[in-house]
Amino acid sequence: MNDLLKQLTEAVGVSGAEKEVRLLIRDLIADHVDEWSVDTMGNLTATKRGTGDYDMRVLVDAHMDEVGLLITDIDSSGMLRFTNVGGFDDRALLGKVVQVGPHKVTGVIGARAIHLLKRGEYSKVVRIDAMRIDIGAKNKEAASSSVKVGDYAAFVTEYEELDGGRTAIGKAFDNRAGCAALIELLRGERYPFDLVAAFTVQEEVGLRGAKIAAFNARADAALVLECTPAFDLPKEQDRSPNVALGKGVSVYVMDARTIQDPRLVAHIMATGDSQGIPYQVRQPGGGGTNTGAIQRAGAGIPAATLAVPGRYAHTPTMMISLDDYDNIVRLADATLRTLTPDTFRRD
Ligand SMILES: [Zn+2]
Repeated sequence: MNDLLKQLTEAVGVSGAEKEVRLLIRDLIADHVDEWSVDTMGNLTATKRGTGDYDMRVLVDAHMDEVGLLITDIDSSGMLRFTNVGGFDDRALLGKVVQVGPHKVTGVIGARAIHLLKRGEYSKVVRIDAMRIDIGAKNKEAASSSVKVGDYAAFVTEYEELDGGRTAIGKAFDNRAGCAALIELLRGERYPFDLVAAFTVQEEVGLRGAKIAAFNARADAALVLECTPAFDLPKEQDRSPNVALGKGVSVYVMDARTIQDPRLVAHIMATGDSQGIPYQVRQPGGGGTNTGAIQRAGAGIPAATLAVPGRYAHTPTMMISLDDYDNIVRLADATLRTLTPDTFRRD
């Protein structure tokens, strides 16, 4: 059992309320870094000093927030209205169990039972503003004693391993998989340069924490560790997958917000080739990661993204390959160990 992934995915940290996961990560890294601090936004930043070979600072980012819900009102019946924090497909919500507020009150996102649906309603999507979270309270007063407007709600999903332990399901692999990988890097040997690890907040609502972390890091280069949606299931038309589970680390070239630094991308691929670490190029296109914010911070930071492919991103239960997870740790580590100021030299 991968205890790191279990602990990290079962911890709660919806965008803007990352305290629980931040404290967990702080405790997991404190003995392996030279210093750590928390900035004004709530990013946890840690420095692992280098061996002194290169006068260079490299930022490695992993956002620690997850998508979730925010309570907007309490009905007279005691039902909770809510909105989304981060992007959702509304269809993924009905019938799911959530934990609401700091006291983790259990609730269910209510749905009308199939017995009571009229013909024609089957084919309609129930929108998020028509849904309610039911915490079993008799009325508004009873509900208000345990939750309040502005409380967050997070999904409840136990981490499990399948397929002889090489596949995992759980919530928030986006991006606790990246956080776990970054923790493993911090627990390893020193790098030839100072490594600045940033566990950032509020990525899911617009790359907000990374903007501040990148400004503070004063880095010469940056690597972003992520979990990217895998679109690799059977489909009506034959379209090649963007990335597939089990086929290696997803390497970004271009997304909706960036063209990744070509020197760093070339270095990543050369490292994967020479060390036999499987990787796959993510189909260039939509989406975005903290690289979008980091690349354009200050005077600009050469940056690129590595990601674990994950099925069912932004739903209560995701699935990843633990081979891909092991490989992102290997590829990120090998990429960093062979990084020099020459990697970014331009003629
Ligand atoms: Zn993410």
